[in-house]
Amino acid sequence: MVEVIYHYFPKTEVSISIDEQILYELAAEYGTPFFLIDEATLRSKLKELEDGFKEFSGVVRIAFSMKANFNPAVMKVFISENILFDVTSVGELFFYLKCGGGPENVIYTSVTETGEEFYEVLGKGVRHIVVSSFNGLMNLIDAASQREVTPKVVIRVNPEVHVKAGVKASCRSGKFGVPFNTPSLDSATSLLRTILHNKGLIFEGFHFHLGSQIEDPTCFVNALEKLETFILKMRREFPDLHVRIIDIGGGTPVSYGTSVPTPEDIGALVSKKLNTMIQRLGDRFMLIVESGRFLSTEACILVSKIVNSKVYRGQKFIFVDAGYHLLLDAALLHQEYPQEVVPYTESTEDLKINLAGRLCDTYDVFPLSSDSKLSGAEPGKLVVFRNVGAYSIVFNMPFHCQTKPPILLKKTDGEFILVRKGETIEELFEEEGGNIVTSYSID
Ligand SMILES: *Cc1c(COP(=O)(O)O)cnc(C)c1O
Repeated sequence: MVEVIYHYFPKTEVSISIDEQILYELAAEYGTPFFLIDEATLRSKLKELEDGFKEFSGVVRIAFSMKANFNPAVMKVFISENILFDVTSVGELFFYLKCGGGPENVIYTSVTETGEEFYEVLGKGVRHIVVSSFNGLMNLIDAASQREVTPKVVIRVNPEVHVKAGVKASCRSGKFGVPFNTPSLDSATSLLRTILHNKGLIFEGFHFHLGSQIEDPTCFVNALEKLETFILKMRREFPDLHVRIIDIGGGTPVSYGTSVPTPEDIGALVSKKLNTMIQRLGDRFMLIVESGRFLSTEACILVSKIVNSKVYRGQKFIFVDAGYHLLLDAALLHQEYPQEVVPYTESTEDLKINLAGRLCDTYDVFPLSSDSKLSGAEPGKLVVFRNVGAYSIVFNMPFHCQTKPPILLKKTDGEFILVRKGETIEELFEEEGGNIVTSYSID
């Protein structure tokens, strides 16, 4: 049994501390709702994740999974830290390169794995490609020979280990990766043979992604155990098989009000296992740790305004001008974003408070976190949603003709700058094709 110590993020440790006065001034200037991103937190979270793996005896590189937050201001902060990027589509690659990132820092992990896509990304200079299917590998081989380049290939395996997490990605018969060994061509065994027999490819190593918001890090150790067994087995067939990269994917969790393992907890456990693997395999491979959630969540808040309230059978409903069109995971995963009324006043009133969004939809009531502080809520006050930096902005949708809100960045020097302007209702109308279809005449 491996013992894991869970640290609790103290309730006082608010990710972004901003003066109440300033919040009201920003609300007056930009309108509500708006997102506010803190550059210093982005940088400190990166350091915290990196430090977690300091006991690993090889080189560690952190990758930002840009699907969690592709906002160019966020991307540029991480690009300036010279980290890797987990990129999954041609569109994401466009954003990354436009933000000034170099192709040498891209890990391209596609789900679709089409030939056109590989042709495109290889043409942009990307070489580190993760394959997850036999068709995908064939498409990569074709694209590489057309481009006359030699990609570095990593095999995405599904170690099929039990994962305790908010979102699981390692289930048997899951959509991602290939199993180690099955009779099908879609197995790590068959992919590895094909790669090693092909002179146009360089074999780099293995990748897995077990899930998001992982609650118990022993799944990483179990997955690595299976991977090690597999590598040793394949060594019998390929004595020269060397592993240069092991990528353990994402999943480092964030506290939304409950206790979760920290990067230190996970890093210590995983590094210990990896260090023994280095010895047993005799390969000093590089460790890649991917993260979207951990790196970006705590760096962002959503500021909304209370626009209405009512008492219904002894319960109080507080209505804000935000909704799940801005925080989809509140409805989808019942994500408990800690909310806080600003200014917060201890109240003796003990009516149960429900925090409702502005959408005309039953699911638009926000789950409360154990860290939520809502007493003293009344129309005109602000409600801040904390820990919304991952999987929120990227899901913005115009349900109920809602426009995309502005995004502000608090720079490390304390200056607030607008990094995405709020969309106007005219722009949304235009975007939805409002000016394409001519109006019908009424006869
Ligand atoms: C989504 C994803 C990640 C990031 O997961 P987090 O839970 O945000 O850390 C990393 N790697 C892959 C392949 C992913 O699909």
